[in-house]
Amino acid sequence: IGYINIYIIMNLNTNQKLAIQCINRPCLVLAGAGSGKTKVITEKILYLINSCNYGDRSIVALTFTNKAANEMKHRVQQKICRTTHCSIYTFHSFGMNIIQHSLHLLDFRPNFFIIDEYDQIHILQKIVQKHAQYDLSTLKKILKFISMLKNNLLNYSDASKLQEYQNKIEWLKYYYLYESFLIHSNFLDFDDLIFIPIKLFQKHKNVRVLWKKKIKYLLVDEYQDTNNIQYIFMKQIIHSNNFTLVGDDDQSIYSWRGANPQNMNLLKNDFPTLQVIKLEENYRSSGRILNIANTLISHNPHIFHKKLFSNMHYGPMVKVIATQDEYEEVKRVVREILIHRNKFKTSYQDYAILYRSNNQSKILEKYLVKKNIPYQIFGKKSILDQNFVKILIYYLKVIINPDDDFSFLKIINIPNRRIGNKTTTILRTISLKKNVSLYKIGMYIDSNTKITMKIRNKIKNLCLLIQDLQNFASVKPNNILKKIIDDIEYIQFLKKTVKNQIQFNEYIKNIGLLLNSMENIKVYDNKKENFSALSNFISQIVINSSEFSEKNIKQIDQDQIFLMTLHASKGLEFSFVFIIGMEEGILPHYISIKNKDCLEERRLTYVGITRARKELTFTYTRKRMLYGNNISMNPSRFLDELPQKDLLWLNKKNISSFFQNSKIHIKTIKKMLKLKD
Ligand code: ATP
Ligand code: MG
Repeated sequence: IGYINIYIIMNLNTNQKLAIQCINRPCLVLAGAGSGKTKVITEKILYLINSCNYGDRSIVALTFTNKAANEMKHRVQQKICRTTHCSIYTFHSFGMNIIQHSLHLLDFRPNFFIIDEYDQIHILQKIVQKHAQYDLSTLKKILKFISMLKNNLLNYSDASKLQEYQNKIEWLKYYYLYESFLIHSNFLDFDDLIFIPIKLFQKHKNVRVLWKKKIKYLLVDEYQDTNNIQYIFMKQIIHSNNFTLVGDDDQSIYSWRGANPQNMNLLKNDFPTLQVIKLEENYRSSGRILNIANTLISHNPHIFHKKLFSNMHYGPMVKVIATQDEYEEVKRVVREILIHRNKFKTSYQDYAILYRSNNQSKILEKYLVKKNIPYQIFGKKSILDQNFVKILIYYLKVIINPDDDFSFLKIINIPNRRIGNKTTTILRTISLKKNVSLYKIGMYIDSNTKITMKIRNKIKNLCLLIQDLQNFASVKPNNILKKIIDDIEYIQFLKKTVKNQIQFNEYIKNIGLLLNSMENIKVYDNKKENFSALSNFISQIVINSSEFSEKNIKQIDQDQIFLMTLHASKGLEFSFVFIIGMEEGILPHYISIKNKDCLEERRLTYVGITRARKELTFTYTRKRMLYGNNISMNPSRFLDELPQKDLLWLNKKNISSFFQNSKIHIKTIKKMLKLKD
């Protein structure tokens, strides 16, 4: 106890200490980037355990990504020098945990699966095609509608009673069918992970009381990015005094998912004894970088007034480099890094390259591969976005539940078994008529069908293979993936199918990552439990692989440059940061320009800038390929808003011609947008 108290006094500033020692009142820490908010959370966990006698199982901390959760766990563990049992989760994985504990009260069976957006679209498509033909963008709109209803805690029967949705009867019907499908298939979507626990708590007060008793203290990082439903969820499980939230309204970058920084205001009403603590010293960035960040964000209106200063060295000028096109941009960034690294004897991992959209990383990756420079991407849409990786997950799903027709259809013809649409249609018709799953039809398929014997045998063999794998999986779940890959001769299939060598290597690498992560699955003695470990693993993979978490399932300890979107960079810090694509239409994004609302894009840029500790470099290009057109670009308005005395513009010479061209340019963009609409 003595040690930890001295430790806190030595390493934290007055307000941080105040926040940590505030335990009999609800506490909100409201402060700018790099001011030590996350540090408050980790230190407070230690303080609660060591000085206030909280058992570590009674503390729950919620963070935004799995990466952040793991990092926090690691930090706490290191400091208390033993494994900790305190629960550090993302909102979604915490929701999943609650669902798993109360399955007997819900419509779901054990071994449920979490589905991602890709699955959602396919399921919806299947549902609606009986009623109408919709294109992808309409399907996405319907899914957004469904998600909106769930985020307003409305199930089908609630929503259908409301006047405001009477003009959406058709879509409501799809909501009903979609939900029925999910329940029937034992699937949950991401929204369900919060929606279902809330409904559970409302219906079963005793379950809620139980969780409330269990959670003696709750801490939430990145509070500005919680949405309404997450706020409600949180309110259900907290005791009115025992929680600490930290956040920064200037870093709210998820309003497109319903995040609501006004939640911070709501808190004051809901918890009148709330203690609000501000932190004003930034410990991360050089004075110049902080000045740039502060100046940029001062162009936004503010809900809360905050100050931020740095006692660090003022630091070198911030470079703004113009390049000819996106290829030259990438080359230039890499060259800057190589020269800098050589000069200052730094490591690759001191550098991060940040960008607005995932597709900007493609050229970058290609070039880094060509130059043989190690890199690591965070927050890229997951490896499961690669169809040939995800197929393996569908195999696992079918092994756990062979009656899962949705997944069965995904694997039926991969690798190629010459089972085409015609055959699957016949199978589905029989399955509907007999009301049994496709797997069972396949297993007992007879000669009365219009399917040839050769194909019938192939189907039957697939079913037998699944049966065989099932037995194997219950003995050794951690080797099951290897066995699938061997049994279906998957690598040979990929070699034949994927002609592009780089693509092929990428698949192999990612399948390797998946295999690695399988090794950590616990093996249970109890036969019944086996599948639950496996299905839990699959759900974890899907949750981890969402857009809001990292790509790498297993951390690779190698010196690598970090590549990530600005969104994925939240909460992290790097010595040297490059923000590329500082152009109108890229950052701010063209949709924001079109909607005449760039506030969130400015916050996103603020997040990017404040990741840098020592040096920051911006790049923009004069021309870029967009939607198949080679168009000329203008530097981002955000560069204009920065204090020019801190910037060093390089290759700026043709800048005036940009502005001369800008009228034509805007016309092209507008035309392009119309096309896109
Ligand atoms: P962000 O808004 O980007 O999430 P944050 O407010 O969570 O930032 P932290 O990541 O907690 O900030 O801290 C930023 C850096 O400052 C970290 O390297 C941290 O170790 C350091 N730091 C925090 N508090 C102190 C302190 N009192 N003394 C010295 N260094 C500190
Ligand atoms: Mg933080």
